Amino acid sequence: MTDAPQIDVAIRNGRLVTPSGTFTGSLGISGERISHIGTDAAVPRATREIDADGAYVLPGLIEPHAHLGLSSTQGANDFEKWRRDFETETNGAIHGGVTTVLSHWTGKERYVDHLDTLIGWGEERSYIDFNVHPVIGIEEHLEQIPELVERGVTSFKHYHHVYDDPRGRSLGIFPCDDQMLYRSFEAIAAAGAPALAMVHAEDGPIIKHLLAVEQASGRADLEAWTRARPPLVENLRVRRVLDVAAHLGTPLYFVHVTTVEAVEMVAAAQREGQAVAAETQTCFLTHTAEMEEEIGAWGKINPALKYERDQQALWAAIRDGIVTCLGDDHLDYDLSDKQPNGADRFNNVFGCNAGMPGGMEHLLPVLVTAGVRTGRISMEDVVRVCATNTARLMGLYPRKGVLAVGSDADVVVVDPDRHKTVDDAFYHTRVRDWSLYWGWTLYGIPSTTLVRGTVVLEDGETVGLPGHGRFVPGRAIDIQAAETHS
Ligand SMILES: [Zn+2]
Repeated sequence: MTDAPQIDVAIRNGRLVTPSGTFTGSLGISGERISHIGTDAAVPRATREIDADGAYVLPGLIEPHAHLGLSSTQGANDFEKWRRDFETETNGAIHGGVTTVLSHWTGKERYVDHLDTLIGWGEERSYIDFNVHPVIGIEEHLEQIPELVERGVTSFKHYHHVYDDPRGRSLGIFPCDDQMLYRSFEAIAAAGAPALAMVHAEDGPIIKHLLAVEQASGRADLEAWTRARPPLVENLRVRRVLDVAAHLGTPLYFVHVTTVEAVEMVAAAQREGQAVAAETQTCFLTHTAEMEEEIGAWGKINPALKYERDQQALWAAIRDGIVTCLGDDHLDYDLSDKQPNGADRFNNVFGCNAGMPGGMEHLLPVLVTAGVRTGRISMEDVVRVCATNTARLMGLYPRKGVLAVGSDADVVVVDPDRHKTVDDAFYHTRVRDWSLYWGWTLYGIPSTTLVRGTVVLEDGETVGLPGHGRFVPGRAIDIQAAETHS
């Protein structure tokens, strides 16, 4: 045995979460890929030796639900804002163990004409790998679906809930009515795997009516927002969208599922063999509509926060495999975006904006704190819903989402006992002045993150560089290759 290093990086003495189980062992990296997994002796000496010291070693997380380039003040997508967000938001991501981001892309522009520009900005500024979900809302969008899929952009978002904001401000997102949804689903089905239809399912016209009713009632607490967007509005559209997708054979992904009934409908469709995935988000697992006193309008989000019964159903659905993915609707709204013109936070839900920052950075710690440490879910569940399932659905598996020989060396070292209190020193994104988890002690803060073999986070400090990130195209999974692979 020679003393000369044979590989680039070795991570030793970790609890590796792999498809064949969780075990204490080591992982070797050559170049950008995982080259060895096994016992300490099975991993050769490396130029760089990292001692995981018994902490978990996980595949890098994939954030499926970010909104880079979205501005509250403009009320619309500002294409140039992507350049800033690629850098500021993905720096936060590596502190949360997120190594790939899929961001919504909303624009009047022809996506195919601007894709190279967007990829160029990401590869110049992003710390992590990335892809996008173009929003489908107008005729011009529809026509581009085949070409986008060809280029590796394979997941398409439908805002099947949008209505005009009562204050007259455009939400800056393209509404997708029933006919547009149907035609888009047709185009996605025709494009074939891994093309995927993502849907925000809520009934906009009913919400519009209920909002007027709530505002007229004089109530302005957090629950008034939920009364205007009750479980019914989600359930109605989930049912309809499931039927359309089943009829057309379109693979379907519901973003932020929040209700007991939606979980039950998705579960029934999955049992019948329908290709349907469901995402939820941490806020729906940790907060309810009844927390006006604790969080006020900081809890304002679309869909609205729900109730204890929904929360319990969502935790169970993660364990049961019904909820397939976790995302966090990452935005970069600071306090001036959230509470415009210094608007009060309490008893003023209609005066504040919807949305929350910090998701990519607190996703893993919140799941460890509220899920793993309480015994609601396991670390294996976290890997499944934050990495493996997401990679499969987005056409990134087995390159991403799994610790396996040959996969990209996107790796996170996380000790479930390592903790931090959420204050203005917690976040590394642009927004550091507030978060839904303000004051919480969060456990499971990653110490080390690697993106394609490069250490980008070391002892909790950013050591990576903007521009390390690469566009990762979605491709149909070669099942045979994927199986020999893992
Ligand atoms: Zn969103």
